[in-house]
Amino acid sequence: MVRADNVHKSFGSLEVLKGIDLVVKPGEVCCVLGPSGSGKSTFLRCINHLEKINAGRIFVDGELIGYRERGGKLHELRDREVAEQRRAIGMVFQRFNLFPHMTVMQNVMEAPLRVKRENRGEVRERAAALLERVGLSAKKDNYPGQLSGGQQQRVAIARALAMRPKLMLFDEPTSALDPELVGEVLDVMKDLARDGMTMIVVTHEIGFAREVGDSLIFMDGGVVVEQGPPREVIGNPQQERTKAFLSKVL
Ligand code: ATP
Ligand code: MG
Repeated sequence: MVRADNVHKSFGSLEVLKGIDLVVKPGEVCCVLGPSGSGKSTFLRCINHLEKINAGRIFVDGELIGYRERGGKLHELRDREVAEQRRAIGMVFQRFNLFPHMTVMQNVMEAPLRVKRENRGEVRERAAALLERVGLSAKKDNYPGQLSGGQQQRVAIARALAMRPKLMLFDEPTSALDPELVGEVLDVMKDLARDGMTMIVVTHEIGFAREVGDSLIFMDGGVVVEQGPPREVIGNPQQERTKAFLSKVL
């Protein structure tokens, strides 16, 4: 579902990604671990082309992201084409970025209505089902400001799912939450994984990575230092940098 080949990304003279390779198969959950500044968010943003990569290739569901290849040369896609590709990729960030002036229901319905111009009745039905799924039917007419952080984050997940993505990207979705609210968001993500969604999850929740992850990559300094089944990487890290990092977060 996702393939990254030798992805490089620099901001000016700062090389943030130094050749990232990654394969995530359909239905797999890949967890990404690494210290602050190692390039995790940048890598996620490259996958949906919020950042332009300097070298390498990223494929989602077989489609080259951001470019068209012709005669061995890469040509940038138009904004409209990039937007089309992004529709297949849901993203949930650390900070709940719901539209504050819209109700929960309106938040979930917004993108399918405006971006895809889908039928309002169908969108409403789907949104209601999604809110049910994340346990927030009772809050559908509330505004984001009236919800807890955990509830807001569950709405953000429902909103991303409303576009029927093939892939979900999560960037530390629980790290801005009070500890007692982390579980309810992780539970929704576990559910999603069980239903076969392909997911890339940047998280420091080691328990989640071990329980739900099919693979784990540890990034540091813009490279993948170590990767493998979560239990192996967490239980028996081979690299010194991985060991040092895990000893701090475990
Ligand atoms: P954290 O765990 O703190 O979220 P991260 O692994 O997600 O860290 P990134 O946000 O990907 O790290 O940042 C990697 C490096 O790239 C950092 O040194 C950061 O300052 C730099 N960086 C990120 N975005 C930009 C940008 N738009 N312009 C310039 N530098 C950037
Ligand atoms: Mg980050």
